[in-house]
Amino acid sequence: MHEMSLAESVREIVDETARGNGAHRVTRVRLEIGRLAQIELQAMQFAFDVVKRGSLAEGASLEIIEVNGSAWCLGCSQPALIAQRGQACPHCGSYQLQVNGGDRMRVMDIEIE
Ligand SMILES: [Zn+2]
Repeated sequence: MHEMSLAESVREIVDETARGNGAHRVTRVRLEIGRLAQIELQAMQFAFDVVKRGSLAEGASLEIIEVNGSAWCLGCSQPALIAQRGQACPHCGSYQLQVNGGDRMRVMDIEIE
């Protein structure tokens, strides 16, 4: 389950940011996950609940915001929004899509006290 190591890197970023801002604790973490990132949301929630223990984010809730994948279509030379890999271009039906967004995860922001 690669969500566990992803959750660990999230905790590190959150912990570091919170410390850098002189926080006592983190109350909320907002995470943006692209639909093409192949991250299972439930597994991510679970993994974060495990790794946050003992960190400044121990009591933090995790909010996950899913974003659509985006790609450039080589068939019709237009940007295309796709919900999953292997999907055809919604404009022309071509499968020659170059993914250029929605394929990663990032910490959007955190709330601290
Ligand atoms: Zn197209």
